Amino acid sequence: MNKTIGIFGGGQLGCMMAQAALPLNIQCTFFDASTDCPSAALGPVIASTAEHGLQDFIGSADVFSLEFENTPLADVDVLTQQKEMHPPRQALAAAQNRLQEKALFDELGIPVAPYQAVNSLDSLKAAAAALGLPIVLKTATGGYDGKGQFVLRSEDQINQAWAELGPAGSLVAESFVAFSREVSIIAVRGQDGDVKTWPLAENHHHNGILSHSIVPAPNSAALQPAAQDYITRLLQHLDYVGVLTLELFVTDAGLCANEMAPRVHNSGHWSIEGAVCSQFENHIRAVAGLPLGSTEVVRPSVMVNIIGQYPQLADVLALNGAHVHLYNKVEREGRKIGHITLMPNDSAELTALCRALAEILPNPLALSEDMSI
Ligand code: AMP
Repeated sequence: MNKTIGIFGGGQLGCMMAQAALPLNIQCTFFDASTDCPSAALGPVIASTAEHGLQDFIGSADVFSLEFENTPLADVDVLTQQKEMHPPRQALAAAQNRLQEKALFDELGIPVAPYQAVNSLDSLKAAAAALGLPIVLKTATGGYDGKGQFVLRSEDQINQAWAELGPAGSLVAESFVAFSREVSIIAVRGQDGDVKTWPLAENHHHNGILSHSIVPAPNSAALQPAAQDYITRLLQHLDYVGVLTLELFVTDAGLCANEMAPRVHNSGHWSIEGAVCSQFENHIRAVAGLPLGSTEVVRPSVMVNIIGQYPQLADVLALNGAHVHLYNKVEREGRKIGHITLMPNDSAELTALCRALAEILPNPLALSEDMSI
């Protein structure tokens, strides 16, 4: 009998993990505030708001993981006194606090933008003077998809930036990175220490939200070894088990780390169809203590997010080779409610498919002029 895996969170990432687990005869349970969450279609959801919810969740599975990096550490502490959980607490703690995360990157020799901790108006002024403008001011905890951030371009914005973010508590000021593009690397480490890495994804954002990813990132062969080295350092140091994501800026001086996510990631959704073994299946394999699958690319892929509003399904399915994943979520502005993976044969087909998709999708697709694959 295979293990049951309990997952903190019941969103689309949990769904796609459970979908990958099913053919391996592995069941998933979920811990979410809403028993009506997307993952409810794939396994039992234990309400995190219920009086004995955490204990019921702990009783519901053999081994545990997460799809939500803000999983409360207090819950993890209760759980790990009784059962095993992957990834490790220390990875989660670092990912939940940008200052701890940057200290970890520094310790492991992973380049980051110069930064300073900010906890008062005076320390913000000092950071602006020391780092030089522009700087990006971020909340140390709780931010996602560009929320909890202020780009400070001139000194007369300092008071406004402090008024907006100061009440959020601990902050970090970092130099504005003049990057040419944003990429991410996803890797998985098994319980036996085996590490496998997917190729870099090139990520395009619209209003701070991932719009689409191209994999392998064009012209990234020279960047892949450094990215692989950085994420392997993190995996080994943290004694990590499961999938880890590292978001990076590409600069003239090489790669510069932005942040990590101790989980499967939106920029890895392409791997469901585009890789021999997807990020979801490999995460499940790692958590269950099974051998990892190949991360080799079957076909170069473009993953496009459906944001806010669903397109006509038939229109998308009519596109050659399009794979559609809908998350069973209510439409809401700025919300990721599905994604589409395209697997074009060449750059010309990529451009044609993306142009056609841009006509079909209600949300804007931030297309660049010179798309290549
Ligand atoms: P984050 O929440 O840290 O992932 O930041 C969201 C987005 O803001 C990133 O994907 C970048 O586009 C941008 N950004 C974050 N930090 C910086 C920085 N130091 N310099 C320039 N752009 C940044």
